Amino acid sequence: MYNVMSPKAEEFISDEEIRECLAYAEANKHNRELIDQILEKARKMKGISHKEAIVLLDCDLEDKNEEIYALAREIKEEFYGNRIVMFAPLYLSNYCINGCEYCPYHAKNRHIPRKKLTQEEIRQEVMALQDMGHKRLAIESGEDPVHNPLEYILESIQTIYSIKHKNGAIRRVNVNIAATTVENYTKLKDAGIGTYILFQETYNKESYEALHPSGPKSDYAYHTEAMDRAMEGGIDDVGLGVLFGLNNYRYDFTGIIMHAEHLEAYKGVGPHTISVPRLRRADDIDPDVFDNGISDDLFAKIVACIRIAVPYTGMIVSTRESQQSRERVLNLGVSQISGGSRTSVGGYTDEERPEDTAQFDVDDRRTLDEVVHWLMDLGYVPSFCTACYRAGRTGDRFMALLKSKQIVNCCHPNALMTLKEYLEDYASPETKAIGEALIEKELQTIPNEQVRAKAAEYISNIHLGQRDFRF
Ligand code: SAM
Repeated sequence: MYNVMSPKAEEFISDEEIRECLAYAEANKHNRELIDQILEKARKMKGISHKEAIVLLDCDLEDKNEEIYALAREIKEEFYGNRIVMFAPLYLSNYCINGCEYCPYHAKNRHIPRKKLTQEEIRQEVMALQDMGHKRLAIESGEDPVHNPLEYILESIQTIYSIKHKNGAIRRVNVNIAATTVENYTKLKDAGIGTYILFQETYNKESYEALHPSGPKSDYAYHTEAMDRAMEGGIDDVGLGVLFGLNNYRYDFTGIIMHAEHLEAYKGVGPHTISVPRLRRADDIDPDVFDNGISDDLFAKIVACIRIAVPYTGMIVSTRESQQSRERVLNLGVSQISGGSRTSVGGYTDEERPEDTAQFDVDDRRTLDEVVHWLMDLGYVPSFCTACYRAGRTGDRFMALLKSKQIVNCCHPNALMTLKEYLEDYASPETKAIGEALIEKELQTIPNEQVRAKAAEYISNIHLGQRDFRF
């Protein structure tokens, strides 16, 4: 059944089916009996369908909503524990030939400075990121076959992986670039990328076409089928997302769950991650012009319902969100966050005009050290782990680990060991003190005795210079 010809975009994201689901959810948003049935199924922690998920999202019964949030917290705890994986974006180039209405990199923007990092500039940026403590990056680029051809992206990935500066190393490069061909996805896979991330922006074809009036990205089907091609090209881990604020959130929520179901059905493995970006102010972009903005309450509900619908998919929240909003969704399902991010080309090293080329304003402007400190104060374990991907545990192999709940004997020690590396090499004295106490406490929660002893031994050797041990 796997790898048979996938249906076309308009079949697996069926507009008619989405509209039917939205009407069904509207009609049943007070239907206690149905909501109880859906919650009962959801408590098995194996996911629910898009049609069921949208009923939970629409539900406005206060007591049932409390149950929805409680279940999202339980699922988060069960599969991901209290670990939060850290990453940072790295903008390579803002040259772009697309006409995206919400993005300041659109081709018609003549006043934003255009910039593309040279390999030497990438080296400088990566060293700055390593000096902050980052081990995992998401590279970002506009779409421009002349300025940023795939060869440039591949060369940049090679440069990033090659830099070993002090104790630093980038161990996983995720890639967020425009939809491309199967052959190009194979080249990205061969370059050793982690997740291929591509946001759908909106699943509504009509809105999509209005928001993308020109350039290669205007082709809805080519963009929507990109993940099928990426997987055909050999990429196991793909990351979905919609840009909330562009279109009706109920439509896009239903669409993203359908997309996840499609990948699971036709490729045998669902998305590795789902991102939940919200539209932000940017150079010539006023988010208020788009009238689909969502409140913080709704944002939290969306995160909770995604967590319940697709328990095996990691969830990412970026610095587009405020500290307060991030804090609220951490225990509802988010498993990865960025910290100390710059959304401009050269933003980590450009001291004079760090934000000239920014793609959007970030809300959470704290340093990585502040974010790590804050997470630990809240009882989370910030993790710099990249082990699964490096040990070949990607796609269905990662999902098998997650489903078997063995993650606690693998991810937890890896998280603690990489946190200790961070504390030793990069943390402020206050962060280090809190972190060391937290590691002591968290080590005791590793169920397997041998793993616990090995992790403790390794952690006690880190100050002697040992690095990069992993389970
Ligand atoms: N050029 C690639 C593409 O078109 O898919 C790479 C993606 S771009 C560097 C990363 C993402 O930023 C986009 O997919 C979009 O969702 C998001 N983005 C663009 N403008 C934004 C804005 N004003 N506020 C928040 N996010 C924005």
